[in-house]
Amino acid sequence: MDGEGEPLERCRNHIESLLNLDGHAGLQETSYPSRSLNFLKRLQGAPQRIDHVAEDPVDPNDRKNPLDEAKVKLRIIVTGAGLGGLATAIALRRRGHEVTVFEKAPELGEVGAGIQVPPNSSRLLLEWGLGPYLKGRAIEPEAIHMRRWQNGEIISLTKLRPDFQKRYGAPYYVIHRVNLQFAMYELALGLGVKVRVNAGVKVYHLESASVELENGEIHDADLVVAADGVKSEARKAVLGGEDQPAVQCGYAAYRAMVDTALTRDEPEVSWLLDVPGQNLWIGKERHVMSYTIAGGKSFNMVLSHPEHSDPSTWNQETVLKDMKHHFEEWDPCLVKLISMIHTTLKWPLLSGKP
Ligand SMILES: Cc1cc2nc3c(=O)[nH]c(=O)nc-3n(C[C@H](O)[C@H](O)[C@H](O)COP(=O)(O)OP(=O)(O)OC[C@H]3O[C@@H](n4cnc5c(N)ncnc54)[C@H](O)[C@@H]3O)c2cc1C
Repeated sequence: MDGEGEPLERCRNHIESLLNLDGHAGLQETSYPSRSLNFLKRLQGAPQRIDHVAEDPVDPNDRKNPLDEAKVKLRIIVTGAGLGGLATAIALRRRGHEVTVFEKAPELGEVGAGIQVPPNSSRLLLEWGLGPYLKGRAIEPEAIHMRRWQNGEIISLTKLRPDFQKRYGAPYYVIHRVNLQFAMYELALGLGVKVRVNAGVKVYHLESASVELENGEIHDADLVVAADGVKSEARKAVLGGEDQPAVQCGYAAYRAMVDTALTRDEPEVSWLLDVPGQNLWIGKERHVMSYTIAGGKSFNMVLSHPEHSDPSTWNQETVLKDMKHHFEEWDPCLVKLISMIHTTLKWPLLSGKP
């Protein structure tokens, strides 16, 4: 174990000496193609060292003081055009980097239903210019009603609108995942990010910061950022072939949508549409979250419950019946809403090791 820290320490010292532009004799050529060396050369020619940027903190809420352009412009590859990959691409592009996103799927289309975007994320997204792309897509709910599982009695109420905007400087949104993904995609393209679908990365070449696509193409960059999801292949590559997969946390969630045109005619549930709000039924080890998305056309529902079995053994054909069984004793209003679900998917809830 003693020797393990040494190479890392040597590497760190070496990089620091290279970055110490006053004291270093100059960058040596290597006998192999080195992207790091090219990067350091460009850094040497840059007007300022990169860490000087951090000394001058920028208020991200102050639109008159936009984030500085990066001093050194990098060519960056992002793998995965999920919400994580697109957000990364937008943030990097806004600093002036040249960004290309490679997405494995033949087309974009987030699986799942709605997503909550609380102010810590909406603040950033709006700062990045996503506002116009969210128009007509995102909904700002009035409040979160936490309800007792047996009868729907309100246990607590959190006012969201306009309180969150006032308190946190940004709204609390709910939105269909596909709408959020497309909003981010459009913004990314508008900023000049290149997004390629049907472009799965097969191999990560760590030494040369390049990726090999499934079709055999090789692309290099100064930096590769992997945002390839919970089953990440990049994670395995970075960990030297040994994966550290995400682990089940003991719960699973059913995700479903109910057409609001159906609920409108049912007095037991039509009141849920009166004001766009979130309703969260809480019971022992289970909860059900519901809110309207898609411009008010659908109810998004997430129903969580304890689950320890291996997801590969789950039978997606019986999930609808299983889901109804889990909540059959609950508030009759909720049971009515659940009875209007015609299809659902069961998702494991996983947690990653840092
Ligand atoms: C039930 C549930 C509810 C949730 N609710 C919320 C919520 O309300 N608010 C919230 O903020 N978060 C929520 N989350 C978490 C959130 O959904 C995830 O954190 C987020 O979607 C992860 O995005 P990602 O881009 O990292 O991964 P993913 O969405 O998995 O995207 C990864 C992308 O990489 C692509 N890819 C994979 N391999 C390759 C490859 N080799 N080459 C190229 N591309 C590749 C995939 O096709 C995919 O498009 C919820 C999660 C669950 C399960």
